Amino acid sequence: MTPRRTVIEPFKIKVVEPLPQPTRAQREAVIAEAGWNLFRVPARRVTFDFLTDSGTTAMSAAQWAAMMIADESYAGSRSFEALELAVRRITGFHHVIPTHQGRAAERLLFSVLVKPGTLVPSNNHFDTTRANIEQLGGEAVDLVTAEAADSRSRYPFKGNLDVDRLDELCRRERARIPLGMITITNNTGGGQPVSFANLREVAAVYRRHGIPFIIDACRYAENAWLIKRREPEQAERPVFQIARSIFDLADGCMVSAKKDGMVNIGGFIALRDPAWVPHLRSLLILTEGFPTYGGMAARDMEALAVGLDEALDESYLAYREAVARYVAEGLEAVGMPVVQPPGCHAVYLDAGALLPAVPSSRFPGQALACALYLAEGIRSCEVGSVMFGKHATKELVRFAFPRRVYTQAHMDRVLEGVAEVVAGRDRLLGMRIVEEPPFLRHFTARFEPILAPS
Ligand SMILES: *Cc1c(COP(=O)(O)O)cnc(C)c1O
Repeated sequence: MTPRRTVIEPFKIKVVEPLPQPTRAQREAVIAEAGWNLFRVPARRVTFDFLTDSGTTAMSAAQWAAMMIADESYAGSRSFEALELAVRRITGFHHVIPTHQGRAAERLLFSVLVKPGTLVPSNNHFDTTRANIEQLGGEAVDLVTAEAADSRSRYPFKGNLDVDRLDELCRRERARIPLGMITITNNTGGGQPVSFANLREVAAVYRRHGIPFIIDACRYAENAWLIKRREPEQAERPVFQIARSIFDLADGCMVSAKKDGMVNIGGFIALRDPAWVPHLRSLLILTEGFPTYGGMAARDMEALAVGLDEALDESYLAYREAVARYVAEGLEAVGMPVVQPPGCHAVYLDAGALLPAVPSSRFPGQALACALYLAEGIRSCEVGSVMFGKHATKELVRFAFPRRVYTQAHMDRVLEGVAEVVAGRDRLLGMRIVEEPPFLRHFTARFEPILAPS
């Protein structure tokens, strides 16, 4: 047997940007001034920024080159034709409607379909997706598989949709369901993939009930890759074919291009059938822009047309998966519990399990995130009682990985910082909120550390 070889970054670096490296004393001052809220910390004081993988991609030389030849014409831009061609080739959907990012695509499509009292099923709706449905008086129904709830379970497809519950809902409420969805990968559920077998069953249920099937496909390439890796019947197929087979099951998709589009801004809707297109284009013109640019500059469309293909490169995807696996294994090796198995775009640290003596009312995730910043300048995101209040079911901290930005040596330093935090965990007693806004408090609330047990 050949020994397992290191998965390497499948790129060399042409343009570099200095890495901010504030000292420990600077970090102490910065976090206190930010009210112990990492959203309030200036990026120039962050060494490893794992807040999100959205819009944080490093673009390729090919993308920058394409941007230089963009056609910034208001109407009929050649760059739109390039984007349209790429989307049609990858998805098979003929009608392409560009938007400035994913939530604009959501608002447009739901404005056409969702009315007060309607239901929109999915595995888990992303938070802007849910908010756009609710804003129109609809209800976003989450039907993710029960396996998703157990963070220690190694079930490979925790993004799957519970087909029995879906069928029952469709049977009971068919008249109230204008479209059915699924999110790949399931971001809200931890970036967990959906299996091809499950996608096929979900599509069959929607088809049987005559419900249009729209995929929230931000991470279509990562999901297709994890199908190839984890679903034996698909292992021999090229990933672009798997991606195409996924889209072949659906009537259309909505995409935030800030993820697997490999760009810093952008999005689109793509549809097989023209029925909704005139209405969507009218709404597009009202708030986004002319139909051949939506909310994007032509240079953004050029970069996206190239990025959609780069995301399907198998050496890139192997590296992408390896980043998450390497960090997850490294975290467990230094005693940090993580949600298993990781997907591609993020690893979730289980703050509740690391700090069992810190109750939810003292925000163990926030305490852990701040300790990680103090230790090594790491910016992560609390996903627990700060973000969800009483609705939180777990106390997690998310490391989301920007695409093609950090190297393995960076990750080694991160793991050293985590090891330091694990060693000093007995000193973490939790946080209290000293100031909070009426909603979405995680973005702006101010905290202070609890320094003595009560
Ligand atoms: C990011 C995201 C969106 C929203 O897209 P934006 O570009 O941030 O507006 C929708 N769905 C999922 C699954 C996402 O990850």
